[in-house]
Amino acid sequence: MQFLLITIDGPAGAGKTTVSRKLAQSLGYRYIDTGALYRGVAFEAKLRGIRHDDDEGLEHLCRVLDIKFVSGKKGTRLITNDSDITDQIRTPEITMLASAVSARSVVRKYLLGLQKDMGKEKGVVFEGRDMGTVVFPDADVKFYLDASCKTRILRRYKELLPKSSATLEEIERDIKNRDENDSARTLAPLKPAKDAIIIDSTVLSVKEVVELMLTHIQKIAGR
Ligand code: C5P
Repeated sequence: MQFLLITIDGPAGAGKTTVSRKLAQSLGYRYIDTGALYRGVAFEAKLRGIRHDDDEGLEHLCRVLDIKFVSGKKGTRLITNDSDITDQIRTPEITMLASAVSARSVVRKYLLGLQKDMGKEKGVVFEGRDMGTVVFPDADVKFYLDASCKTRILRRYKELLPKSSATLEEIERDIKNRDENDSARTLAPLKPAKDAIIIDSTVLSVKEVVELMLTHIQKIAGR
């Protein structure tokens, strides 16, 4: 089978990360978590005291920021200007800040170029919100992974339980706020691409979702 560029978009908590990772693994592809890039910009903005709506400050930050994924013994790490920030970008504060900075055109423009460069070599699964609609409109296979709001909240709660004291109510608020921010913004809003294959994972296991995706990929690649 030839090497393909595959995109997986969808709302927070739909299972994109787990599924994208497993899909990439079973195909022997690279996996790119584009949400981590928005989180990286948000983290650096906070570190430098740049507000989420300070476009001038964000533009300057994007100009001096060197943000990249580096693979090594500890897996894939997110590096900004030589600092490994992988373990610092998953806090509730950075999560909300990432959603806020992702609505600014300076940030989207900067990351658009970076993501397009990362996609020059095929054999890759890109996970995000606008992969199939804006960044890679010509992707070979596009998926939109969804699940009911209740299921997404519960999944995120269980995922965070070992390392966070966030309550179910706090997680519900976070998911609903991000759904609202990501879908209502004018720039690259979260929505399925016209030619995306929509998968509702509410009653499906990770294995079932990945198998379903592999079936679609084989069908498309065989055309
Ligand atoms: O996927 P993750 O939850 O890590 O993404 C964090 C935030 O980054 C999202 O809530 C969204 O606002 C933003 N994002 C985006 N476009 C992407 C990936 C993430 O706007 N392609």
